[in-house]
Amino acid sequence: MTKGLTVAPEAFKSQLAFLLKFYDVIDIDSFYSHIKDSNADFLGKSAVLLTFDDGYSDFKTTVLPVLEEFNVPAIVYVSPGFWDKRARLWWYELEDIVWQAARDNTLYFTWQGSDYNIRLVTDKDRVSCYYMLHGMMMAMGHSMQAEFLDMLWDVSEASSHAPYAQMLSQDDIKWLSSHRLITIGAHTYSHSVLPVLSRQDAIDEVIKGKKILEDVTDRPIDHFAYPYGAASRREYDLIRELGFKTAVTMNPRTISQSHIRRNDKKFMFSLPRLSVRGDVPYPASIKVPLSGIEEYLLFPITFLKISISSNNR
Ligand SMILES: [Zn+2]
Repeated sequence: MTKGLTVAPEAFKSQLAFLLKFYDVIDIDSFYSHIKDSNADFLGKSAVLLTFDDGYSDFKTTVLPVLEEFNVPAIVYVSPGFWDKRARLWWYELEDIVWQAARDNTLYFTWQGSDYNIRLVTDKDRVSCYYMLHGMMMAMGHSMQAEFLDMLWDVSEASSHAPYAQMLSQDDIKWLSSHRLITIGAHTYSHSVLPVLSRQDAIDEVIKGKKILEDVTDRPIDHFAYPYGAASRREYDLIRELGFKTAVTMNPRTISQSHIRRNDKKFMFSLPRLSVRGDVPYPASIKVPLSGIEEYLLFPITFLKISISSNNR
């Protein structure tokens, strides 16, 4: 669950050392200009761009010193709504709710006219409950998400709204934006699931996040990351129309030379991205995503399930 989203500092160092052995780590503006100029020779197979989402404060205290030590650039995509708590780290809240809810080992609630009665006896129950609630949250706009979360806190009698993570402050972002290795990117104002919003609400969310960051950093914010990687055609077009240069998804792919040669402008707004998970040990954590194998995993897994069940019969 959320544990996989975090990488231990020592593992991060090993991953960076590995990357630097085989790849150039470049900043996003060089990446953009080389793709724009269809300069496939520059990228070849050997360039990597490091991205960090949301703006957690340990980026400054833990990640940046390592980036400085290795002298590598990175982009941090920031949702300013975290500063005034309008945006909530709800994926951590859900984890607490599901793990702390103990009453009769069942979570009861009524939501939009439906009654839910979810067994929470085993860890497996809790994991599937977490993913069910996560799926419900991903279908909601921001204010409905807040209402749903507050209702879950109430009915679960879970106790702590723990400080899940500290976020970088406005001053931190201002300072980071002038750091030679760091670029600040936009990530909507309140970390919204853009596809569930109306077109106008989606535009407002994106513009507000971008504008605040531009005011704070006093420089243009040209790059964007879709929160949760949630985006399709409408969002790709919208981000392009709003004047961004690039936007990253969480589609686990690598960029090939043919993408660059094609000079496909739309591709710039649905750039793939590989996740390096903290719950996968090094070196697989870095080698597996870079191998490109994740792109193909969906197919063999589906196929395996079919063969297993027919063998069992
Ligand atoms: Zn995010």
